[in-house]
Amino acid sequence: MRPFEYVRADNVEDAVAAVAEDPGGAFLAGGTTQVDLMREEVLRPSLLVDIRRLPLRGVRHDGGTVRIGALTTMGSVAADPVIRQRLPMVAEALLAGASPQLRNMATVGGNLLQRTRCRYFRDRVFACNRRAPGSGCGAIAGHHRMHAILGTSDQCIATHGSDLAVALVALDAVVHTRGPAGARRIPLPDLYPLPGDTPAVENVLAHGELITEVEIPVLPAGTRSHYLKVRDRASYEFALAAAAVALTVDGGTIALARVGLGGLATVPWRASAAEEVLRGAPPELGTFQACAEAALAGAVPRRDNAFKVELGRRTLVRALEIVGGAP
Ligand code: FAD
Ligand code: SF4
Repeated sequence: MRPFEYVRADNVEDAVAAVAEDPGGAFLAGGTTQVDLMREEVLRPSLLVDIRRLPLRGVRHDGGTVRIGALTTMGSVAADPVIRQRLPMVAEALLAGASPQLRNMATVGGNLLQRTRCRYFRDRVFACNRRAPGSGCGAIAGHHRMHAILGTSDQCIATHGSDLAVALVALDAVVHTRGPAGARRIPLPDLYPLPGDTPAVENVLAHGELITEVEIPVLPAGTRSHYLKVRDRASYEFALAAAAVALTVDGGTIALARVGLGGLATVPWRASAAEEVLRGAPPELGTFQACAEAALAGAVPRRDNAFKVELGRRTLVRALEIVGGAP
């Protein structure tokens, strides 16, 4: 562990200014990603600004919108009655992640900005374009069973680890931020650029820009949603494939369809082409299979992760069967 300065911020303005003024500054929320990566010397901040005292906690429900403070823990969001009743796939995605102990510490803002679990990224011995731009990608030539098949580039194939972000992408959620240039709203898919030639750029936030809140439009009454996560063991494990789906069925056809995919892509993945297949079609197996074909049509499998194409299709079909079957 290298020496660094630690300060506690008492208000949002001071927190933003402190990080913005120090090129080596970083926010500290629950610390479950940040501190791990500092121990591994993957991250070496000169300043940590502890934001846990900021008044950014709680779940509010006004009209058709749910607002979650960025410092609300994963555990308390998953237990919130409005989330459980009106946005069950958000609660399911949270409960499918990490462990109860971690969910009691980890915050929503930190979850959305967690770093990849690619082992080559987390071990400084190996080349990694995300950690050290231009050094190469250890995973492409090495072991990549857990890695992405959608949204990849020849520079990086790491998956995004957040289950919550997959549900939020499907729900048209928006993050609110406060940065050195003021406040702004960022639709969740726009938060995460594809790796392309610059995999080290993992989000569009400016240095010192703080996520303050997540805003989620509530699904229409009668919509059923589900988050299905397939992994190597039943808990405490990241997704091999995951599907966040929501369907409204009206008069025997699908009126509203939302599909997000996790464990398969370099960013939380909105499967828009797959949604098009569902809209206006009957909620039956043939429709769901056609949807899954469309969702995985652009997949680029590699030696160790080719199984994810079929696993991704089956995960999505199963999730759609759960929400599209008889209530
Ligand atoms: P921190 O570690 O404090 O911060 C993470 C990053 O976000 C840092 O860069 C920090 O500077 C930045 N940051 C934090 N808050 C803000 C903010 N409000 N605005 C701007 N920047 C901010 N996640 C899953 O989704 N699914 C899993 O299955 C899963 N399994 C896990 C298993 C293990 C063993 C571990 C250690 C983690 C796992 N996680 C999983 C990841 C976990 O959910 C994240 O570590 C956690 O959500 C990060 O939140 P935090 O508050 O601890 O963030
Ligand atoms: Fe680094 Fe991405 Fe390659 Fe992993 S997949 S080693 S994160 S460049």
